[in-house]
Amino acid sequence: MITKLEKNYQIFIVSKDEEAISAITRVFSDPLYTITLTKTGMEVLSLVSYKLPHIMLIGTDISDINAFELVSLIKKNSITRYVPCIVFGHNNEIQDRISAIDSGADGYLPLPFKIEELHSLVHAKLIQHDELYLLSVTDDLTGLFTRKEFFRRFSFEIESNIHSCVSIAIIDIDHFKNINDTYGHPVGDIVLIQLANMLKSLQTENYTPARFGGEEFVVIFPGVVATEAKKIIDRIRLQFSSINFKTNTPDKTFSVSFSAGISEYPSMGTNLSELLSRADQALYAAKTDGRNRVYTFSPIMSRNDKFWEYIKTNKIIKNIFIDPFLHEPITGYHYLPVVLENLLSSETSIDSIGVLIIKVVPLVDFYRYRGYKNFEYDIENIALLIPKICEIHFPYERYVTVADLYDYEIAILFPFPSSKTNISEFTKLCKELVLDISLQSIHHHVEIHYAQGVVPFHRHLARKILQEIKSIKASFLPLLSLANEAEIISSFSRAINEKKDITDYIFLLPVYNTSFERSLYHVLSKQLVSAKNFFDIMMKNAITSQKHYTYFIESLAHIVATHNVQIPLLINWVPAIDLALQIHTLQKLCNTLSLPKIVLAIDEIELHSFISQYEGLAVKNTTPIEFSVSNCYIGSNVLQSLSTIEFSMVTLSEHMIRNLHYFKDRIKIINGLRLFCDQINLPLYAPNILKDEEYRIIKDINIAYSSGPYIEQQYALIAAPSKTI
Ligand code: GH3
Ligand code: MG
Ligand code: MG
Repeated sequence: MITKLEKNYQIFIVSKDEEAISAITRVFSDPLYTITLTKTGMEVLSLVSYKLPHIMLIGTDISDINAFELVSLIKKNSITRYVPCIVFGHNNEIQDRISAIDSGADGYLPLPFKIEELHSLVHAKLIQHDELYLLSVTDDLTGLFTRKEFFRRFSFEIESNIHSCVSIAIIDIDHFKNINDTYGHPVGDIVLIQLANMLKSLQTENYTPARFGGEEFVVIFPGVVATEAKKIIDRIRLQFSSINFKTNTPDKTFSVSFSAGISEYPSMGTNLSELLSRADQALYAAKTDGRNRVYTFSPIMSRNDKFWEYIKTNKIIKNIFIDPFLHEPITGYHYLPVVLENLLSSETSIDSIGVLIIKVVPLVDFYRYRGYKNFEYDIENIALLIPKICEIHFPYERYVTVADLYDYEIAILFPFPSSKTNISEFTKLCKELVLDISLQSIHHHVEIHYAQGVVPFHRHLARKILQEIKSIKASFLPLLSLANEAEIISSFSRAINEKKDITDYIFLLPVYNTSFERSLYHVLSKQLVSAKNFFDIMMKNAITSQKHYTYFIESLAHIVATHNVQIPLLINWVPAIDLALQIHTLQKLCNTLSLPKIVLAIDEIELHSFISQYEGLAVKNTTPIEFSVSNCYIGSNVLQSLSTIEFSMVTLSEHMIRNLHYFKDRIKIINGLRLFCDQINLPLYAPNILKDEEYRIIKDINIAYSSGPYIEQQYALIAAPSKTI
């Protein structure tokens, strides 16, 4: 008598009772049903966390947990609560029936089953569940899923781990209030329905659209990366904004646009609220940049997350305006005085401010080897980490992150509203927070020091507060003695030693005049290929005069010719020597050795001065000399510079590689150039460098991920000539 069963129903049985199980299996043997058998409560609970059944049949015979308790657990869980649960058991006592009702079960069946009863109860519950479920999860106006259902499905996607990534989009119609005000609510409703219908078309591709509320919509994209989701939403945006909506006035039409923000699990957030807030930040950025656009979240948008949230939710600052340029260029945080100014103009009563100052200290010898710029990148990376770590440790607290002006100190401010200051709790939380930051920063070869304190919030006295915050710095402590410098340095040399013949390079400078050729031979045969490590830089710095340079190139030519080695010639640009002379010398070298080309490698740190020298060249045609940029950190300045001259190759700095997920959009921009991730083979520089996620990005954007062999292959241009010169 029951019809309307058209899909496949998942039935979970939890029981060890063979007889009952075989009865159920017989009754529901139709392919319409899929039966999954579990024997314990724990087993079924872990199963439902990634696969939801349409109904559960639970035997009172299970022993690890009481069947009724199992039902209440299922009914208390927001994801499983709508799954009908039928309890069965040998006891037909009234007490068991009552327990079943109390626990929230949808029925009780005594054993042995009366087949008819089993069949019709299960059927009825399935249909009822379907109808109720659909009713409860769809929005009246648009027919899309509700916000609640969106949350349920979204957390299911994340928790079930079926897909390696899940993207979400938040869509908000632009100036929708104007439409209601100008053309009336019913016309506004038509606009909403129209957009909803467009979003529904995504369902056929297994994406889930929902109405988030008002004129806001969301879409879940399982297994889709953010950039792909952006393309899909952009397509809908174009279609939607080209519609001419009718008004009550004949011949008068209007058009509407929307803005959207996108975030991606797990690279941009690992839980629901984080992902939503990230997508919302992207949406907010899209709105402030002029609307009618789709933005993917980028960490820059989140740096003052909690700050903005604090300000928004507490409405403490009216017409807040923070000049976006008033931030520290490396960490990206607002300067401390700027934040204080804003806190001071707030209307909320703040009693005191908890202050945690984190100082990032480089390990001295690494610093010397790796260079100042690398240290700045370390700071930037740690600055990116801090808001994330803070969110984990202080999920409900309000905090403000800022950068102090000097010495790479990052201050985290916790404004305490009146009478809420709990110093001992604050101290404990700070310690945990710093420990976490410290542990997550180990591979940057830095040490984290910290200081903390609580300062009174004197209204109108920014300078005084600032002074008190600074006085906290007197009590800097290293958190752990994580780094025994000597030991790290020696393991560093050991690591390099195992891979590379480091002694030759280290002594390159002193032996410059004596065994120059021998050292150079090593450099050439092993290292020049990658053109970018500190040995090269040392050698490069050793060349200080035109005479040296010519001698260097002549020796090079001589070695290439006599040793008959196959060397892709990638030669460092030497900033101290006139560029025209270098090009001329290399052109001559090409000629003598009959090489098709030589690549002149510029370290990104010197890109600017290279460009100005290049612009001063009288002859811009440099064939057969090409240029490459190595050790590149693709910030906006560099992007600009890269577009001024034609470079044949760009290799990325280790920091870019290590943090590819932060920078993938920037990398795409210059994908027209050939990009190489270098140094991936150096274990010490880049521990576990390619996480799955990063590997995927590299694959997606088709850049080479192992420079040595790759560059050799790309630039294996020379079968060295045997003639002597
Ligand atoms: P913005 O571009 O900044 O998003 O501007 P906006 O005007 O779209 O933003 P705002 O959030 O101020 O306005 C949303 C409006 O949506 C206000 C509310 O009256 C209207 N709205 C919410 N739900 C419905 C609905 O179901 N039908 C209609 N017609 N209007 C709705
Ligand atoms: Mg809105
Ligand atoms: Mg809107």
